[in-house]
Amino acid sequence: MPAPLVLSVVIPVYNEEAVLPALFARLYPALDALGVRYEVVFVDDGSRDQSARLLSEQFERRPDVTRVVLLNGNFGQHRAILAGFEYSRGERVVTLDADLQNPPEDIAALLAQMDAGHDYVGSIRRQRNDSWWRHVASRAMNRLRERITRIRMTDQGCMMRAYSRRIIDTINQCNEMNTFIPALAYQFAQNPTEIVVGHEERQAGESKYSLYSLIRLNFDLMTGFSLVPLQLFSMVGIIVSLLSGLLVIYMGGRRLILGPEEGGLFTLFAIAFLLIGIVLFGIGLLGEYIGRIYQEVRQRPRYVIAAVLERQPGEGA
Ligand code: UDP
Ligand code: MG
Repeated sequence: MPAPLVLSVVIPVYNEEAVLPALFARLYPALDALGVRYEVVFVDDGSRDQSARLLSEQFERRPDVTRVVLLNGNFGQHRAILAGFEYSRGERVVTLDADLQNPPEDIAALLAQMDAGHDYVGSIRRQRNDSWWRHVASRAMNRLRERITRIRMTDQGCMMRAYSRRIIDTINQCNEMNTFIPALAYQFAQNPTEIVVGHEERQAGESKYSLYSLIRLNFDLMTGFSLVPLQLFSMVGIIVSLLSGLLVIYMGGRRLILGPEEGGLFTLFAIAFLLIGIVLFGIGLLGEYIGRIYQEVRQRPRYVIAAVLERQPGEGA
């Protein structure tokens, strides 16, 4: 009987050729130092650079502890991680970015929390090294999310987290197309906790997230985990129609008593534009949810796997 596989580390990789050598050099020693049986599951998210080649070379070097899932296109970070989950076999699964923003040495601290009985270990970045607008935006989004979802997370932006096998199995049963993994996992956790982990500047290469994809990601987080935006909207609708009902009554009475008025045209414009703005936003919001429904009913595969590099259990030594 081989020792049980304690740890799977799932790493999504998209055009990371510049940082992969440094990652290999730091990750494997850190994991070897843990003294448990582990595997690293790299998921290549359709990289167009040399990443896939570097990953397969690393597989040749450490086939005993390395598995590589090559996706057939770019499906995005979260789907890539989901693919990694499907192929992970460890009792505990840690997700990590490839860019070395979080030190692999901190995996030990995550595991220590799991030893203490937690099934979900989130993370808070010690000292964030991101641009100022990402600080501000992420603080605002954190606060908004706290209000409209039941997900309590101090720092939603940090992907270095640990999950128990039970949570991973539950996630594997979910067929959502666009999701936000830390939030999805949080919903299935019984005893979640958070620790502070290190955060450095990206070692090499550049961020794969533009402002646009960050906004998309936050929509996934809000509309994927809460109906509050829709409900809020009907509340706004009720309030606005009540107020405008009062306004109509007031104007009608005024007309009867004081006679018709001439001014006030631009006030009317202002009110009309405000309402049009609210309606447009509402339609957009409906569209967000309908888009999600549309994607779910099509039931397309979330990702397509081109190849998997792995050694079958019992094969070679
Ligand atoms: N990533 C991915 N597919 C994508 C975009 C990103 O697999 O379409 C991976 C990327 O290789 C990295 C992780 O997701 O390992 C986080 O990306 P990045 O560091 O660019 O995000 P940031 O830290 O800037 O939020
Ligand atoms: Mg990063």
